[in-house]
Amino acid sequence: MTVRYRDGIEIELSDGTRVVCDGESPDGDVNIVSHAHGDHLPDGERTVVCSELTAALGSARRDAPLHRTTDERVDLIPAGHVAGSRAAVITDPDGTRYCYTGDICTRSRFYLDGFEAPDVDVLITEATYGEPEYVFPDHETVAGEIREWLESTPEPVLLFGYALGRAQKLQLFADSAGKQVYTTDAVTRVNDAIEAHLAVEFPADSYDEETELTDGDALVLPMTTTRIDWIEQLAEDAGAATAGFSGWATDSSFRFRGNFDAAFPLSDHCDFEELCGLVAAADPDRVYTQHGSGDAFAEHLTSEGYSATTIKQNQTTLGDF
Ligand SMILES: [Zn+2]
Repeated sequence: MTVRYRDGIEIELSDGTRVVCDGESPDGDVNIVSHAHGDHLPDGERTVVCSELTAALGSARRDAPLHRTTDERVDLIPAGHVAGSRAAVITDPDGTRYCYTGDICTRSRFYLDGFEAPDVDVLITEATYGEPEYVFPDHETVAGEIREWLESTPEPVLLFGYALGRAQKLQLFADSAGKQVYTTDAVTRVNDAIEAHLAVEFPADSYDEETELTDGDALVLPMTTTRIDWIEQLAEDAGAATAGFSGWATDSSFRFRGNFDAAFPLSDHCDFEELCGLVAAADPDRVYTQHGSGDAFAEHLTSEGYSATTIKQNQTTLGDF
Protein backbone atom coordinates (compact mmCIF):
# COMPACT_ATOMS: atom_id res chain seq x y z
CA MET A 1 0.00 0.00 0.00
CA THR A 2 1.35 3.39 -0.95
CA VAL A 3 -0.13 6.81 -0.26
CA ARG A 4 1.79 9.80 -1.55
CA TYR A 5 1.16 13.54 -1.71
CA ARG A 6 2.54 14.74 -5.02
CA ASP A 7 0.16 16.52 -7.37
CA GLY A 8 -2.81 15.81 -5.10
CA ILE A 9 -3.06 12.67 -3.00
CA GLU A 10 -1.99 9.57 -4.92
CA ILE A 11 -3.04 6.10 -3.78
CA GLU A 12 -1.43 3.11 -5.47
CA LEU A 13 -3.64 0.02 -5.30
CA SER A 14 -2.29 -3.55 -5.07
CA ASP A 15 -2.75 -4.11 -8.83
CA GLY A 16 -0.73 -0.99 -9.68
CA THR A 17 -3.75 1.24 -10.37
CA ARG A 18 -2.93 4.86 -9.47
CA VAL A 19 -5.80 6.86 -8.00
CA VAL A 20 -5.17 10.62 -7.85
CA CYS A 21 -7.38 12.84 -5.65
CA ASP A 22 -7.65 16.61 -6.17
CA GLY A 23 -4.57 16.95 -8.37
CA GLU A 24 -3.93 20.15 -10.32
CA SER A 25 -2.82 18.27 -13.47
CA PRO A 26 -3.91 14.76 -12.46
CA ASP A 27 -2.40 11.84 -14.40
CA GLY A 28 -3.78 8.87 -12.49
CA ASP A 29 -5.54 5.82 -13.93
CA VAL A 30 -8.48 7.14 -11.89
CA ASN A 31 -8.75 10.85 -11.08
CA ILE A 32 -11.12 12.12 -8.39
CA VAL A 33 -12.23 15.71 -7.66
CA SER A 34 -13.82 16.13 -4.21
CA HIS A 35 -15.35 19.59 -4.69
CA ALA A 36 -15.25 22.76 -6.76
CA HIS A 37 -13.06 25.04 -4.64
CA GLY A 38 -10.16 26.47 -6.64
CA ASP A 39 -7.43 24.60 -4.77
CA HIS A 40 -9.13 21.24 -5.47
CA LEU A 41 -10.07 21.72 -9.14
CA PRO A 42 -7.83 20.49 -11.98
CA ASP A 43 -6.58 22.68 -14.81
CA GLY A 44 -7.94 22.51 -18.39
CA GLU A 45 -10.54 20.16 -19.84
CA ARG A 46 -10.67 16.96 -17.74
CA THR A 47 -12.75 13.86 -17.17
CA VAL A 48 -12.84 12.94 -13.50
CA VAL A 49 -14.80 11.00 -10.90
CA CYS A 50 -16.91 13.64 -9.10
CA SER A 51 -20.51 14.55 -8.39
CA GLU A 52 -22.70 15.95 -11.17
CA LEU A 53 -22.86 19.26 -9.34
CA THR A 54 -19.08 19.47 -8.94
CA ALA A 55 -18.74 18.90 -12.70
CA ALA A 56 -21.27 21.71 -13.32
CA LEU A 57 -19.56 24.07 -10.87
CA GLY A 58 -16.10 23.21 -12.21
CA SER A 59 -17.33 24.04 -15.71
CA ALA A 60 -18.99 27.29 -14.56
CA ARG A 61 -16.03 28.51 -12.50
CA ARG A 62 -13.20 27.78 -14.95
CA ASP A 63 -12.82 28.46 -18.66
CA ALA A 64 -12.70 24.74 -19.57
CA PRO A 65 -15.31 22.00 -19.15
CA LEU A 66 -15.09 19.45 -16.35
CA HIS A 67 -16.59 16.11 -17.40
CA ARG A 68 -17.86 13.51 -14.98
CA THR A 69 -17.22 9.78 -15.05
CA THR A 70 -17.59 6.93 -12.58
CA ASP A 71 -15.36 4.04 -11.48
CA GLU A 72 -16.49 0.79 -9.90
CA ARG A 73 -13.74 1.02 -7.27
CA VAL A 74 -14.84 4.47 -6.09
CA ASP A 75 -17.93 5.36 -4.04
CA LEU A 76 -18.64 9.04 -3.51
CA ILE A 77 -20.37 9.99 -0.25
CA PRO A 78 -21.61 13.42 0.96
CA ALA A 79 -18.75 15.42 2.47
CA GLY A 80 -20.98 18.15 3.95
CA HIS A 81 -18.47 20.87 3.02
CA VAL A 82 -20.05 22.76 0.09
CA ALA A 83 -22.70 22.01 -2.52
CA GLY A 84 -21.63 18.98 -4.57
CA SER A 85 -18.72 18.04 -2.28
CA ARG A 86 -17.97 14.34 -1.86
CA ALA A 87 -15.53 12.18 0.04
CA ALA A 88 -14.23 9.15 -1.86
CA VAL A 89 -14.25 5.58 -0.57
CA ILE A 90 -11.85 3.53 -2.69
CA THR A 91 -11.82 -0.26 -2.55
CA ASP A 92 -8.56 -1.99 -3.48
CA PRO A 93 -8.88 -5.39 -5.26
CA ASP A 94 -7.16 -6.86 -2.15
CA GLY A 95 -10.08 -5.63 -0.03
CA THR A 96 -8.35 -2.66 1.63
CA ARG A 97 -10.74 0.30 1.94
CA TYR A 98 -9.47 3.86 1.75
CA CYS A 99 -11.34 7.07 2.47
CA TYR A 100 -10.10 10.38 1.09
CA THR A 101 -12.15 13.13 2.71
CA GLY A 102 -11.23 16.26 0.76
CA ASP A 103 -12.65 19.12 2.88
CA ILE A 104 -15.35 17.91 5.24
CA CYS A 105 -18.03 19.02 7.67
CA THR A 106 -20.06 16.63 9.82
CA ARG A 107 -22.79 19.20 10.67
CA SER A 108 -25.91 18.96 8.48
CA ARG A 109 -27.07 22.48 7.63
CA PHE A 110 -29.15 24.19 4.96
CA TYR A 111 -29.12 21.95 1.86
CA LEU A 112 -26.04 19.94 2.98
CA ASP A 113 -25.98 16.50 4.59
CA GLY A 114 -23.13 16.23 7.09
CA PHE A 115 -20.29 13.78 6.43
CA GLU A 116 -20.77 10.39 8.06
CA ALA A 117 -17.46 8.55 8.34
CA PRO A 118 -17.46 5.10 6.74
CA ASP A 119 -15.61 2.17 8.37
CA VAL A 120 -12.30 2.01 6.49
CA ASP A 121 -8.74 0.68 6.80
CA VAL A 122 -6.94 3.83 5.69
CA LEU A 123 -8.25 7.35 6.31
CA ILE A 124 -6.78 10.41 4.61
CA THR A 125 -8.39 13.36 6.33
CA GLU A 126 -8.16 17.12 6.18
CA ALA A 127 -7.16 18.72 9.50
CA THR A 128 -7.75 22.44 8.89
CA TYR A 129 -8.96 22.95 12.47
CA GLY A 130 -7.13 19.99 14.03
CA GLU A 131 -6.15 21.64 17.33
CA PRO A 132 -8.12 21.69 20.59
CA GLU A 133 -8.60 25.49 20.62
CA TYR A 134 -10.71 25.26 17.46
CA VAL A 135 -14.10 24.25 18.75
CA PHE A 136 -17.09 25.93 17.10
CA PRO A 137 -20.43 26.65 18.77
CA ASP A 138 -23.16 24.44 17.33
CA HIS A 139 -24.72 25.55 14.06
CA GLU A 140 -28.01 26.79 15.56
CA THR A 141 -26.16 29.02 18.03
CA VAL A 142 -24.06 30.64 15.29
CA ALA A 143 -27.10 30.94 13.02
CA GLY A 144 -29.06 32.64 15.84
CA GLU A 145 -26.26 35.18 16.42
CA ILE A 146 -26.06 35.97 12.70
CA ARG A 147 -29.85 36.46 12.42
CA GLU A 148 -29.89 38.66 15.50
CA TRP A 149 -27.09 40.86 14.12
CA LEU A 150 -28.80 41.16 10.72
CA GLU A 151 -32.14 42.05 12.28
CA SER A 152 -30.63 44.66 14.60
CA THR A 153 -28.55 46.34 11.86
CA PRO A 154 -30.84 48.58 9.79
CA GLU A 155 -28.08 50.15 7.69
CA PRO A 156 -26.79 48.35 4.54
CA VAL A 157 -24.60 45.35 5.34
CA LEU A 158 -21.67 43.92 3.39
CA LEU A 159 -21.27 40.19 4.02
CA PHE A 160 -18.05 38.44 2.98
CA GLY A 161 -17.73 34.75 2.14
CA TYR A 162 -16.23 32.43 -0.49
CA ALA A 163 -18.15 32.53 -3.78
CA LEU A 164 -18.91 28.80 -3.38
CA GLY A 165 -20.10 27.89 0.09
CA ARG A 166 -20.34 30.77 2.54
CA ALA A 167 -21.82 33.19 -0.02
CA GLN A 168 -24.91 30.99 -0.57
CA LYS A 169 -25.55 30.62 3.15
CA LEU A 170 -25.18 34.37 3.67
CA GLN A 171 -27.78 35.05 0.97
CA LEU A 172 -30.22 32.72 2.77
CA PHE A 173 -29.51 34.30 6.17
CA ALA A 174 -29.97 37.83 4.78
CA ASP A 175 -33.18 36.90 2.97
CA SER A 176 -34.69 35.28 6.06
CA ALA A 177 -33.81 38.44 8.04
CA GLY A 178 -35.94 40.42 5.56
CA LYS A 179 -33.07 42.05 3.66
CA GLN A 180 -33.06 42.91 -0.03
CA VAL A 181 -30.13 40.73 -1.17
CA TYR A 182 -27.59 41.66 -3.84
CA THR A 183 -24.58 39.74 -5.06
CA THR A 184 -21.95 39.74 -7.81
CA ASP A 185 -21.82 37.80 -11.09
CA ALA A 186 -19.19 35.38 -9.74
CA VAL A 187 -21.58 34.34 -6.95
CA THR A 188 -24.59 34.28 -9.31
CA ARG A 189 -22.82 31.78 -11.59
CA VAL A 190 -22.35 29.48 -8.61
CA ASN A 191 -25.97 30.05 -7.45
CA ASP A 192 -27.31 29.07 -10.87
CA ALA A 193 -25.40 25.76 -10.95
CA ILE A 194 -26.53 24.85 -7.43
CA GLU A 195 -30.19 25.79 -8.10
CA ALA A 196 -30.15 23.50 -11.16
CA HIS A 197 -29.13 20.51 -9.00
CA LEU A 198 -30.51 21.03 -5.49
CA ALA A 199 -33.90 22.04 -4.15
CA VAL A 200 -32.84 25.54 -3.11
CA GLU A 201 -33.22 29.06 -4.48
CA PHE A 202 -31.02 32.04 -3.80
CA PRO A 203 -33.12 35.21 -3.78
CA ALA A 204 -30.44 37.69 -4.89
CA ASP A 205 -30.49 40.54 -7.39
CA SER A 206 -27.33 41.22 -9.31
CA TYR A 207 -25.17 44.04 -8.05
CA ASP A 208 -23.27 46.44 -10.27
CA GLU A 209 -21.51 49.72 -9.58
CA GLU A 210 -24.73 51.64 -10.41
CA THR A 211 -26.63 49.93 -7.59
CA GLU A 212 -27.21 52.25 -4.65
CA LEU A 213 -27.33 50.48 -1.32
CA THR A 214 -29.93 51.75 1.12
CA ASP A 215 -31.17 50.69 4.57
CA GLY A 216 -32.32 47.08 4.61
CA ASP A 217 -30.00 46.01 1.79
CA ALA A 218 -27.44 43.21 2.08
CA LEU A 219 -24.60 42.82 -0.42
CA VAL A 220 -22.89 39.41 -0.40
CA LEU A 221 -19.33 39.68 -1.70
CA PRO A 222 -16.74 37.00 -2.45
CA MET A 223 -13.69 37.08 -0.20
CA THR A 224 -11.13 39.06 -2.10
CA THR A 225 -7.77 40.62 -1.46
CA THR A 226 -7.47 42.66 -4.64
CA ARG A 227 -10.41 45.01 -4.14
CA ILE A 228 -9.94 46.08 -0.54
CA ASP A 229 -9.80 49.80 -1.36
CA TRP A 230 -12.98 49.55 -3.43
CA ILE A 231 -14.78 47.72 -0.64
CA GLU A 232 -13.67 50.20 2.03
CA GLN A 233 -14.86 53.07 -0.16
CA LEU A 234 -18.15 51.32 -0.81
CA ALA A 235 -18.71 50.66 2.91
CA GLU A 236 -17.98 54.31 3.68
CA ASP A 237 -20.17 55.74 0.88
CA ALA A 238 -23.12 53.52 1.77
CA GLY A 239 -22.64 53.91 5.54
CA ALA A 240 -22.58 50.10 5.59
CA ALA A 241 -21.70 47.67 8.36
CA THR A 242 -19.38 44.79 7.41
CA ALA A 243 -19.28 41.20 8.63
CA GLY A 244 -16.83 38.33 8.08
CA PHE A 245 -17.64 34.63 8.46
CA SER A 246 -15.04 31.92 9.09
CA GLY A 247 -13.99 29.20 11.48
CA TRP A 248 -11.03 31.47 12.25
CA ALA A 249 -13.51 33.89 13.85
CA THR A 250 -13.17 31.75 17.00
CA ASP A 251 -9.99 33.86 17.34
CA SER A 252 -10.75 37.57 17.95
CA SER A 253 -7.87 38.67 15.70
CA PHE A 254 -9.93 37.56 12.66
CA ARG A 255 -12.29 40.52 13.10
CA PHE A 256 -9.49 43.06 13.50
CA ARG A 257 -7.35 41.72 10.65
CA GLY A 258 -10.36 41.82 8.30
CA ASN A 259 -11.45 45.21 9.65
CA PHE A 260 -15.00 43.82 10.06
CA ASP A 261 -17.65 45.38 12.28
CA ALA A 262 -18.78 41.88 13.22
CA ALA A 263 -17.40 38.35 12.81
CA PHE A 264 -19.06 34.97 13.19
CA PRO A 265 -17.53 31.46 13.39
CA LEU A 266 -19.59 30.10 10.51
CA SER A 267 -17.48 27.33 9.01
CA ASP A 268 -17.77 24.71 6.27
CA HIS A 269 -15.19 22.49 8.01
CA CYS A 270 -15.12 20.18 11.02
CA ASP A 271 -13.82 21.61 14.26
CA PHE A 272 -11.33 19.69 16.42
CA GLU A 273 -13.89 17.61 18.30
CA GLU A 274 -15.74 16.69 15.10
CA LEU A 275 -12.45 15.58 13.50
CA CYS A 276 -11.72 13.38 16.52
CA GLY A 277 -15.25 11.95 16.30
CA LEU A 278 -15.01 11.06 12.64
CA VAL A 279 -11.66 9.30 13.10
CA ALA A 280 -13.20 7.24 15.90
CA ALA A 281 -16.17 6.39 13.66
CA ALA A 282 -13.94 5.39 10.71
CA ASP A 283 -11.85 3.24 13.08
CA PRO A 284 -8.93 3.06 10.62
CA ASP A 285 -5.67 1.10 10.99
CA ARG A 286 -3.80 4.01 9.44
CA VAL A 287 -4.55 7.76 9.35
CA TYR A 288 -2.93 10.40 7.18
CA THR A 289 -3.67 14.05 7.94
CA GLN A 290 -3.27 17.03 5.64
CA HIS A 291 -3.91 20.81 5.57
CA GLY A 292 -3.90 23.32 8.41
CA SER A 293 -3.10 21.63 11.71
CA GLY A 294 -2.08 18.34 10.06
CA ASP A 295 1.03 17.91 12.28
CA ALA A 296 -0.72 18.71 15.54
CA PHE A 297 -3.71 16.52 14.71
CA ALA A 298 -1.51 13.53 13.76
CA GLU A 299 0.35 13.97 17.07
CA HIS A 300 -2.93 14.06 18.96
CA LEU A 301 -4.17 10.90 17.21
CA THR A 302 -0.86 9.13 17.92
CA SER A 303 -1.23 9.98 21.62
CA GLU A 304 -4.69 8.38 21.43
CA GLY A 305 -3.18 5.15 20.10
CA TYR A 306 -3.77 5.58 16.36
CA SER A 307 -1.12 5.01 13.73
CA ALA A 308 -1.18 8.54 12.33
CA THR A 309 1.14 10.79 10.35
CA THR A 310 0.78 14.05 8.54
CA ILE A 311 1.30 13.64 4.81
CA LYS A 312 3.60 16.18 3.22
CA GLN A 313 4.01 17.00 -0.42
CA ASN A 314 6.67 14.92 -2.25
CA GLN A 315 7.27 12.70 0.76
CA THR A 316 6.55 9.00 0.24
CA THR A 317 4.96 7.00 3.02
CA LEU A 318 4.93 3.24 2.85
CA GLY A 319 2.22 1.38 4.66
CA ASP A 320 3.34 -1.18 7.18
CA PHE A 321 0.65 -3.80 6.78
ZN1 LIG B 1 -12.99 23.50 0.18
